[in-house]
Amino acid sequence: MSRHDFVAQLGLSLGLLAAAGSAAADTIRLKNGEQVEGEVIQRDELTITVKTRSGAQLPYLNNEIELIEAGSAPTTAGHQAPATPAIPTAPAPTISSLGDLAPAVLPRTKPDRATLEARVAEVLALDNVSQRKGIDAVFQLGDFMSEEGNAARALELYEAGLRVDSWRLEYQLKAARLVLAQGRRVEAIEKAKTVYQYTESPELMQEAKGFLAELGTPVAARPTDDPALAKRPEIVLVPVGGVRRWLLEDFRQELQTKTGLKYSIAPYDFDAGPIDRTYASHLTGAIVAQILAEAPPEQVKAALSEAGLAKADLETPKGRRAFLEVFIRKTAGPEQLAKFRQEISPLEQTGQRDAERLIKVLAGRSPVAHDGQVKGYVGVLEADLFVKDNNFVFGWAGPSHGVMSYHRFLAEFNGEPPNRTRLRSRFVKQVISSTFYVLGIERCTSATCMRAYPNDLTEHDQKENELCARCKEKLRAVIGPL
Ligand SMILES: [Zn+2]
Repeated sequence: MSRHDFVAQLGLSLGLLAAAGSAAADTIRLKNGEQVEGEVIQRDELTITVKTRSGAQLPYLNNEIELIEAGSAPTTAGHQAPATPAIPTAPAPTISSLGDLAPAVLPRTKPDRATLEARVAEVLALDNVSQRKGIDAVFQLGDFMSEEGNAARALELYEAGLRVDSWRLEYQLKAARLVLAQGRRVEAIEKAKTVYQYTESPELMQEAKGFLAELGTPVAARPTDDPALAKRPEIVLVPVGGVRRWLLEDFRQELQTKTGLKYSIAPYDFDAGPIDRTYASHLTGAIVAQILAEAPPEQVKAALSEAGLAKADLETPKGRRAFLEVFIRKTAGPEQLAKFRQEISPLEQTGQRDAERLIKVLAGRSPVAHDGQVKGYVGVLEADLFVKDNNFVFGWAGPSHGVMSYHRFLAEFNGEPPNRTRLRSRFVKQVISSTFYVLGIERCTSATCMRAYPNDLTEHDQKENELCARCKEKLRAVIGPL
């Protein structure tokens, strides 16, 4: 059983069941292979809530979701699809309903070869959709074969995997090497070029680049800076915490082309400090809010009293956690409480950094001299950012200093196939938005200008890759003609 069952049961015990929904069913595919049908009734940056046909309202973290397929119009009476159970009855997954959130907490154990062979035979007998859910085993067995020197079988397995999941770029590159060994050079080059062009992983990009060079088809070198840029006003990008530094290098040129400013990358890494807000605290906030809105007040009162808490304690993560311990045990039972603990524990070790705190630290460490060439610093994080009560922010900035995070721009965060061009566009739009604040230029009112305010990633993607005429004018007024 996963958290979904747990929340569903909690929902039942709370009497949250609403009338069975009749709206078009969306299909929500989870990264753990489960699939839920229902209507997405609420969506924010961290979670979605799905109302199933039975009326249960199930919250999911966006990170758990692989894909949401929008449903078609409700079927007509005579052709009604059979009711789908809210929760799939397939065996519960052993790990990973929290997926990428907690790789360090939930290590993937390496199965032995016989287990893997059996699993692969099972997976390959399934239809394409079902195959894809278990495809890791096929790739893993491919790796086993490759390590043992059985190149033919390894390639066969990699190709079987790529047939249903072609965006596993690390395996495209492994397959490219084996394909080359079979003399299929053109195919190998094509595969490696795709990997190089699309990957968002620095290691894979370097590897593909090296392989293409070996094949005598090196990728074009990054253009060098226009010497005229040396004297332009400068913005320094400061890596904060662990970042993919190549990303900054890769995207710097476009920042310069779009703005006429010089962008440099600080040679040092700036410490992001401890996590300021955990995802667990955010999630317990959402669960407690739902309980307060929908559970009988006497149940809440009884749990508060047993936990020795006042209602005001529910404002704090610690208070909420203590309350939920008692409330879940009393209303849903000890088994559900154990599941709740198991699900929430990894979320206590991951979370977000406070953008305002980081800006203060950055400003203290790197002051800007008004007559200098450097006009501001933009901290760049891979870690997630928030400000005040916001669920998250892509970036935050004031005069001279700002921070931005590409956390929510990554394919792996959104469950999308990798696409570095898309990542570059998202990154550049955000850094340029931050840059304008750093330069003291007020917010733009255009909807499509690259620095328009986006409420979410869809709106961010919707913006053009260019500054509007008015923003260009304002920028020139501050930094002088290009
Ligand atoms: Zn504009």
